[in-house]
Amino acid sequence: MTRHYNFCAGPAALPTAVLERASREILDYQGRGLSVMEMSHRSSEFIAIAERAEADLRALLAIPANYRVLFLQGGASLQFAMLPLNLLGKGGSANFIQTGIWGKKALTEARHLGFECVVAASSEANGHIEVPPQSTLTPSADAAYLHYTSNETIGGLAFDYVPKVDAPLVCDMSSDILSKPIDVSDYGVIYAGAQKNIGPAGLTLVIVREDLLDQAVTPSPTLFNYRQLAEAGSMVNTPPTYAWYLAGLVFQWLQEEVGGLEAMREINQRKAQKLYAAIDSSDFYSNPIAVRSRSLMNVPFVLADEALDAAFLREADAAGLLNLKGHRSVGGMRASLYNAVPEAAVDALIDFMADFEQRKG
Ligand code: PMP
Repeated sequence: MTRHYNFCAGPAALPTAVLERASREILDYQGRGLSVMEMSHRSSEFIAIAERAEADLRALLAIPANYRVLFLQGGASLQFAMLPLNLLGKGGSANFIQTGIWGKKALTEARHLGFECVVAASSEANGHIEVPPQSTLTPSADAAYLHYTSNETIGGLAFDYVPKVDAPLVCDMSSDILSKPIDVSDYGVIYAGAQKNIGPAGLTLVIVREDLLDQAVTPSPTLFNYRQLAEAGSMVNTPPTYAWYLAGLVFQWLQEEVGGLEAMREINQRKAQKLYAAIDSSDFYSNPIAVRSRSLMNVPFVLADEALDAAFLREADAAGLLNLKGHRSVGGMRASLYNAVPEAAVDALIDFMADFEQRKG
C-alpha cells in the first residue's frame, strides 16, 4: 500500500493514523460487533463518541462554556444562509469583509434571501492580494454582525489579525480552523465545513455564542435554527454519524500525536515558509499575495510559462504529488498544506519543483 502526498484543497488529506484506526474499527467498534456507521445515533455507544468529540474539540480550542458546538450537515455553504436567518430576526444588517470568492458567496446568499447587506471593507480593488487593514473597516451602525473569511481557500489570502468591531464577529474558518490556536471569545459565530482540517465531507461545525441563539427570523425551518439544533444536541434528525466519529479521531490525533494547536501552528508555519521561500527564490514560480496576507494553508502559484502547466501536473502526479491543480476559476497551481499534510510532503514538492524548473525553465 502506498499513500501519496495529497495537496487537495478539499476534501483534503486525513492523518494516516486516523485512517488506520478507523480501518481497525470499521467492522467491529470496540468489541460491540458492529460498525459506527451501523449504530443508532441515539445509542449509548454513539452518544459517547459524540460527547467525546465535542469535549476534545472544546479542549483543543479552549471553547468557553457560553458557546454551543453544533455538528451539522449542509456544508459551510448552508451557513451562508443560516447565518442571516439566525442572526437578523431582530433587524439590522449583515456586514461583510470581502477578501475573495467564498466571502462573496456568503454575501450573495444573504442578499438572495432579501437581507440588507453592507460591505464594510473589501480587497477587490487590489485584486484580493492583500487583506484590508483594521483601520479601513467601516461597519454600518446597524450591523447585527460582521462576517469575514479568515482564509480564502482559492485566493490563498489570509487575515493576519482578528477584526475588532462592536458587532458580533462571524468567521468562516473552513480552511484554517484548528491550524493554530485562536481566542474563541473574539467571535460570535465560527463555522467550518469539515473536509479540510476536521474530517471527511458531510459534517459542518458551528460554534455559536449562547446569547446569539435567540435572534432567528420566525418562522424558520427547524433544521436551520441554531437554538433548536443546540437544544437537541445537533440531533433534531440523524446527524452525519460516521463523519462525526472521524472528526473525533482527528481531534484525538491533534491532541495526542501533534501535541495541540500551538505545536500544529509551528509545523504549519514551517511548511508554508519553506514553500513560499522556494517560490520567492525562483523566477520560474510566483505567488502574487502580499507577504503579510499569505495563507499558511493554501499556496497558489503560477509557472512563468502557462504552457508548461499540464506537464507540471502530469509529472507531479506521476511522482506521487497529487491534486496540485489550482481552482478552476483561477487556474495555475495550488498546494494545500492542511494539518494532515506532513512536512515531508512539502519537502518532496519543493524538490520536485526545483527539478522541474531545472529541466524546463
Ligand atoms: N468557505 C470556504 C472558505 C471554503 O473553502 C469552502 C469550500 N472550499 C466553502 C466555504 C464551502 O464549503 P462547503 O463545500 O462545505 O459548502
